[in-house]
Amino acid sequence: MDCIFCKIVKGEIPSYKVYENEKVLAFLDINPANYGHVLVIPKEHYNNILDVEEDDLIEITKAVKKIAEILAILLEPDGINILQSNNPAAGQVINHIHFHIIPRFVNDKVTFHWEPNKLEKKQFEELAKRLKEELEN
Ligand code: AMP
Ligand code: ZN
Repeated sequence: MDCIFCKIVKGEIPSYKVYENEKVLAFLDINPANYGHVLVIPKEHYNNILDVEEDDLIEITKAVKKIAEILAILLEPDGINILQSNNPAAGQVINHIHFHIIPRFVNDKVTFHWEPNKLEKKQFEELAKRLKEELEN
């Protein structure tokens, strides 16, 4: 498969690896939003959050926490963002599920900005009801 992250897993493309276990690989983002920007991926190819196996997702999440803790100690950032995008409309460029770990520093230039949508009380109620009904099944 022509997936750049699968090629990184196989060692066909170089990367700055920072952590690896049987299921997961983490490496430095080549175009970091900030110093210390790390990507965490499953070694198995999944497109996104919708098709990833739950067991692999658990392993990714455990690695994300482990790496975030080490970044917090090493770089002493003021904050850390965890970002994960699904499909191009959401900003996903590489079609192999990945979690961004982005150390944040007061007054850095990283932005995640959106204008809030205005919803009526009725819309909140209806939406919450629909979701709750499905999630309870
Ligand atoms: P996304 O927009 O969530 O799909 O993010 C893809 C990320 O992968 C971007 O932040 C890129 O900088 C990063 N990236 C692309 N190619 C490589 C590579 N060969 N090594 C490391 N990071 C990469
Ligand atoms: Zn892949």
